[in-house]
Amino acid sequence: MSSSSVPVAKGSTPHELPTLGVVLVAAGRGERLGADEPKAFVKLRGSTLIEHCIKAISALPHAGHLVVVTPDSHAAAALELVGRSIDSGSSWAVSVVHGGRERHESVRFGLEALPDHIEVVLVHDAARPLAPTELFERVSREVQRTGDAVIPVLPVADTLKRVDSQGVVHETVDRAPLVSVQTPQGFMRERLAAAHESLRIASGPPQSPGDVHVLPTDDAEVVQRSGDTVRTVPGDTAAHKLTTAGDLALLEALFAIRGDSTARGARS
Ligand code: C5P
Repeated sequence: MSSSSVPVAKGSTPHELPTLGVVLVAAGRGERLGADEPKAFVKLRGSTLIEHCIKAISALPHAGHLVVVTPDSHAAAALELVGRSIDSGSSWAVSVVHGGRERHESVRFGLEALPDHIEVVLVHDAARPLAPTELFERVSREVQRTGDAVIPVLPVADTLKRVDSQGVVHETVDRAPLVSVQTPQGFMRERLAAAHESLRIASGPPQSPGDVHVLPTDDAEVVQRSGDTVRTVPGDTAAHKLTTAGDLALLEALFAIRGDSTARGARS
């Protein structure tokens, strides 16, 4: 929440105001992982997911403002991680703010903490710690080129079937027009902020018993509900999401394949 934000400006850009903002949502509990810590504070090869993300983001070749959204209980720990991950000469400014009960609330609090001059914003899940710098760059460039929302996607490899609650198969789904969606997702800041504000108003208390709100699971869905166009760019297999303990093993293998932790080559 912006009222509880803890600004920690690291470096400055006196001649050129940064126009890129990144909201790193890290306030989920990660219950499916079953770890003692919130998911973003779990370690992957010695560094927390938050640290991996900050390294990729602060390696972008221009200045920007990063907002890390954390559980209330972990704001101080997040500040310490920020201090460890950002070089003193970095042109990135970083703030840490408290998250909300749902992901979309955490994103809204993150957006509210961005300075006014930010024009393009990337929203990234801390649960995707190995998303490479090039992926952030690819998404950001396409937002700047088109002015539309942009999401990284991968083709679906498995055969897909529709099943009922008993697990009985009803049909095979044509996978050709389907993609699997990753983060970072990119937006013109004003569009995303307006769409989140509309969602906040629409998802207030139910007006009638049958009034059920289906919450969006990503930000592209939030702007699409507002009528905006959402475009795609190629995703990256390294941007795999940590959900269960099995994903942790997979991410460790991806990290090992990458070899040098500073080499952030695309693997789409
Ligand atoms: O729970 P899930 O893995 O889908 O969450 C995706 C991302 O959103 C994670 O990085 C998580 O920390 C973040 N999140 C959040 N605030 C919430 C719920 C999730 O920042 N209330």
